Amino acid sequence: MSQTQVVILGSGTPNADPDRVSASLAVVVAGQPYLVDCGHGAVQRVVEARAVGKIDWDTTDLTRLFVTHLHADHTVGLPDLLYTPWIHEREAGLQAIGPLGLADMARHIELAYRENIREHLSAHPSSREGYKIVVREVAGGCVYEDDKVTVQALEANHGDLAALSYKFETPDGTIVVSGDTKPVARFAEWARGCDLLLHEVYSARQFTFRPPAWQAYHSRTHTSSDELAALATAVRPKRLVLVHQLFWGQTPAQLVAEVQRAYPGEVISASDLDVFELTPVWSGGMKTIMR
Ligand SMILES: [Zn+2]
Ligand SMILES: [Zn+2]
Repeated sequence: MSQTQVVILGSGTPNADPDRVSASLAVVVAGQPYLVDCGHGAVQRVVEARAVGKIDWDTTDLTRLFVTHLHADHTVGLPDLLYTPWIHEREAGLQAIGPLGLADMARHIELAYRENIREHLSAHPSSREGYKIVVREVAGGCVYEDDKVTVQALEANHGDLAALSYKFETPDGTIVVSGDTKPVARFAEWARGCDLLLHEVYSARQFTFRPPAWQAYHSRTHTSSDELAALATAVRPKRLVLVHQLFWGQTPAQLVAEVQRAYPGEVISASDLDVFELTPVWSGGMKTIMR
């Protein structure tokens, strides 16, 4: 039984979608979730995943957060992540790692919810720590280490917004999460040979029908299916998982086919609540997927 999974909480984008909440996933090692981003609905998806038996941990275990960048579709769930698990009697606060600006965001959220915090502290028997957030702003390199994971960050290229990709080195293998980014020269070498590459993507085919101003924006901030095929060919991940998909009318199968036009490896288009499991290296490295 693998002790490492990736749980897709939200595979969506800023564009509202009835089936996809915005960006969030959990790398889970030996029952400890390490959240990457917290778009809207992240906490709700944790509750759903537990209710249907996909996870055996709960919201009170959400104490580690890695933020790729400060766009709302990756952070708007942060107040929910701070205050809902607190109601659920989370004992510890949140340790958050992310780019420049995250500390300011956290400080302002705490100010905005000052009355909620004041009343709750005086009226409820909850932990005195469970609502707090401690932020460490990083720019790259080794950003976190404990007895289960080592986490490396790489500077991403998401326009003029500070942005990071993360690499989780676990006992069962290596997981790379791109965050929002256009292709970065150093990425392929940094991520090479990873077990699971979770990468953002937009449809190169549908891009040609987009208004020129949006074409300009997406080409300088995101990764097309053609660019991802080239990148994945260089990275050679054991499995490529598409997240934060800008389908623009394509089906998931069509988007996968776009990538596979120039990339022969396995490609999966993620949906919310998909679980990707890494089997232990001692079992021969054979990876399985549970969806
Ligand atoms: Zn985004
Ligand atoms: Zn973004």
